Amino acid sequence: MAAEKRFLPVENPTLPFWLTERSPLDAHRSTPNLPDESDIVIIGAGYAGVSLAYHLLTSISYSTKRPSITILEARTVCSGATGRNGGHLRPDIYGSIPLFIRRHGLDAAVELAEFELSHIKAIQDVIEKEKIDCDLVMTRNMNVYFGTDRGNKVRKVIEDLKAQGCKFLDDLVFLPEEDIESTSGVKGTKVGFSFTSGAIWPYKFILGLLEKVLEYGGDSVNLQTTTPVNSVTSEAPDRHVIHTPRGSIKAKKVVYTTNAYTFGLLPEYERAIFPARGIVAHISVPENQTPPHLPLSSYALRVDPRTGVDYLIARPDGSIIVGGAHHLHQDNNDEWFNNIDDSKLIESTKDYFDGYMQKHFNGWEDSGASVKELWTGIMGYSSDTAPHIGEIPSRPGQYIAAGFNGHGMPVIYLSSKGLAQQILEEKPFDETGVPRTFKTTSERLETAASGKIGGDIF
Ligand SMILES: Cc1cc2nc3c(=O)[nH]c(=O)nc-3n(C[C@H](O)[C@H](O)[C@H](O)COP(=O)(O)OP(=O)(O)OC[C@H]3O[C@@H](n4cnc5c(N)ncnc54)[C@H](O)[C@@H]3O)c2cc1C
Repeated sequence: MAAEKRFLPVENPTLPFWLTERSPLDAHRSTPNLPDESDIVIIGAGYAGVSLAYHLLTSISYSTKRPSITILEARTVCSGATGRNGGHLRPDIYGSIPLFIRRHGLDAAVELAEFELSHIKAIQDVIEKEKIDCDLVMTRNMNVYFGTDRGNKVRKVIEDLKAQGCKFLDDLVFLPEEDIESTSGVKGTKVGFSFTSGAIWPYKFILGLLEKVLEYGGDSVNLQTTTPVNSVTSEAPDRHVIHTPRGSIKAKKVVYTTNAYTFGLLPEYERAIFPARGIVAHISVPENQTPPHLPLSSYALRVDPRTGVDYLIARPDGSIIVGGAHHLHQDNNDEWFNNIDDSKLIESTKDYFDGYMQKHFNGWEDSGASVKELWTGIMGYSSDTAPHIGEIPSRPGQYIAAGFNGHGMPVIYLSSKGLAQQILEEKPFDETGVPRTFKTTSERLETAASGKIGGDIF
């Protein structure tokens, strides 16, 4: 008999720094039992699920239509990628843009970059409006290259994009070579540039939004944690049944915000969105010692001459969150590819962050900085690098927002807003402001299934 393929989040995941301070809503259940039915059921309470619920409740048409919403979460709130990430709110205005231009043309690429950039203000605004305490810091992201080959190649790409009229790149500034090391604080760097970026405590941001969801929704919102969904069956476009070990619930509409785990419930996405395991560390100096100064709060260290990038933020208390090291395990597929086990570290990478600050940053040599928490998390990589948003082909009344790669923070909030408009107002995708390349389509699924695109994730 063939072994059953596991698709649910595993038990006992590693402990990220972000989850060392838990909200009272972490394992919340609004009622002891599942409701029998709900207008909308959202599967997954990470960034996508919670921000979708928030937009459904704050959208103009909610006051007139007022549907009931149930959120089902397999583990605790934000225990997936969102609670295990690097805390970077860093719009990608150059990394995947050349690839997007090649695949979809300049207009689509500009639309994507501007969409990501607009998240900075949108997230600042909602944090201010809802008074969410989540350590948001606005800064410049410092991208540094240790070799001139890779660095100058990137410089050329950016200059070409600027020449093509990409105005959003006006925010990107190259540093004079002789100043890079002193300005960035990173040892041995040869090429460097900076652009607007942010850092955030992702769990606190999402839990703050969730608090508002439960407040605004009142009795019409029901959250059920530790309730894994095993399957969904459909009787009609407005009659779906969601099956869990705690019973079933009927829904008019179902939304999958299951990111890396989507393949388990929607097999047609198996080749389009696949799990990819990553590793992140929290580094701090011994108690009662002041951490050395870092010139900025957001870095990308291009540590590998080919592909590798480490991403790093400095927290307001001076401690560091750093992730990456992908170049060390990228050739060993079992360690990261199609791997949903975040209860274990990545063996070949687990010592990588020891002495990291001493090795890379001036002034940290005698800091005594060491790793305090080390954890893994599961990203949902999209085979064509774009997330899947919208109504699922051949499944009327069922929607998806998933496949955000290692890069959801400046993408998900407004994607969820657009999806809420589709669900509540039946607005066509093209009028929601979500980039055209994000629309989930049967063509994209077929291309993924045929394996025509893929592999060039980094
Ligand atoms: C190690 C790592 C580092 C990262 N660093 C960054 C970064 O610095 N900046 C950035 O922008 N992005 C980063 N990302 C990516 C970012 O965290 C994700 O894109 C984003 O959090 C995805 O949010 P989500 O809600 O779609 O997924 P998730 O947060 O994974 O939420 C999905 C939820 O669905 C639940 N679920 C799944 N299946 C079921 C089921 N069958 N039944 C019920 N519930 C289910 C899961 O338990 C989970 O809580 C990183 C990700 C990882 C893993």
